[in-house]
Amino acid sequence: MSEIQREKVVIIGSGPAGWTAAIYAARANMEPLVFEGAASRTMIPGGQLMFTTDVENYPGFPEGITGQEMMMAFRAQAERFGTRIVTEDIVQVDFDAEPRRLTASGGTVVEADTVIIATGANAKWLDVPGEEELARGGGGVSVCAVCDGALPFFRDKRLAVVGGGDSAMEEALYLTNFASEVVIIHRRDEFRASPIMADRALSHPKIRVLWDTVVEEVVAAEVGGFKEIGHLRLKNRRTEEESTLEVGGLFVAIGHDPNTAFLGGQIDLKENGYIQVPNPGRTETNVQGVFAAGDCTDDYYRQAVTAAGTGCMAALDAERWLAHRAARTGAVAASG
Ligand code: NAP
Repeated sequence: MSEIQREKVVIIGSGPAGWTAAIYAARANMEPLVFEGAASRTMIPGGQLMFTTDVENYPGFPEGITGQEMMMAFRAQAERFGTRIVTEDIVQVDFDAEPRRLTASGGTVVEADTVIIATGANAKWLDVPGEEELARGGGGVSVCAVCDGALPFFRDKRLAVVGGGDSAMEEALYLTNFASEVVIIHRRDEFRASPIMADRALSHPKIRVLWDTVVEEVVAAEVGGFKEIGHLRLKNRRTEEESTLEVGGLFVAIGHDPNTAFLGGQIDLKENGYIQVPNPGRTETNVQGVFAAGDCTDDYYRQAVTAAGTGCMAALDAERWLAHRAARTGAVAASG
C-alpha cells in the first residue's frame, strides 16, 4: 500500500484566492488540503495582505479591517468547514503523473486529483535601507496605493511614487486624490508607461517628476515615539548629485513577480511569468484538473476581492471537473 496521501483537491497558497477556494471546496465535501506556505524574508502565510495596514475597500467591512485580521478570518472560516492546513511551501510538482504529485518543503508528498494554484505575486521592493522597516510597521511605505493611499495617514502630504511603468502612473494619478503633491521618481529620463498614461501623469497639476533619480535610503522621523517616514535620500544617476526630499509616504510601483517558478515549466505561463488560463473568465489551465486563481494568474486587477472571486471559481471548476470525470469513468465502466 502506498504511504502517499491521496487528496481530492490540494490548494497551494493562502491569500484571499486560496482561502476562498478552500471554503468553497470544504463546503462541497471535497476535504481540501491547503499548503499555506512557510515564512520567508519576503512572504508569510496569508500573502501580500499580511503586509498591508488597513483594508478599506473589501466589501463588508465598513470600518475597514487590518490585512492580518482579514487573512486570519479567511483562514478560520476555511478551518471551520474542515480544511486541513500544512505550513509548508510546495517546491516541486509532477503534472505528468496521474494523479498529480506535489512535493513540499518539509518533505511531505501528496497525490491530488485536482490542484488549485493560488500562490499570488510578490511586489518588487527597492531593497534600500529603511524601506522594509517602515513598510512592515505601517510607517508610510507601501506597494499598493489603491490599498493604502486613502488612509488618513497619507492625506494632504507630499507623496512619492517610484517607477516609470503604467502601475507607477496609475498609482500617482490615484494618489492625487489625497496628496498635496505627488512626486514620481524614475531611474531613467523617459517612462516605460504607455503614452496615454504617461501624458495623463505628466499633465496633472499635482504631479512632478524627478528623472534619472534613484532612492538610496528611506529615512525615518520619530513622531510621538513612533517611527514614520521623514525623508528620502536621493541620487541623480547622471550627475551623481545627492539630495533629500521630505515626504509623507512612499509608494513603490516597480512591478510584481508572480510566484510560479516552483511549477518548473510544467504549465503554460504568459511571457511575464503569470499562469495562462486559455479560456478568459475561467480558471482551467492547460493541464487537466489543475486550476489557477488570484494574483498568480492576474497581472491586471490584483485586488483581494477579485482574487477571492477567482478562488471561488476555481473550487467550483474543480468540483465540476471531478464530477464530470466520475461520470465519464462510470459511463466507460457501464459500457465495458
Ligand atoms: P513595468 O512595466 O515592468 O514597469 C516597472 C517600472 O519600474 C519601470 O519603469 C522600471 O524602470 C522601474 N523599475 C524596475 N525595477 C526598479 C528598481 N529596482 N528601481 C527603480 N525602478 C525600477 O511594471 P508595471 O508598471 O507594474 O506594469 C506591469 C504590466 O501591467 C505592464 O504590462 C503594464 O502595461 C500593465 N499595467 C497596465 C495598467 C493599465 O493599463 N491601466 C496599469 C498597471 C499595469 P525602467 O523603465 O528603467 O525599466
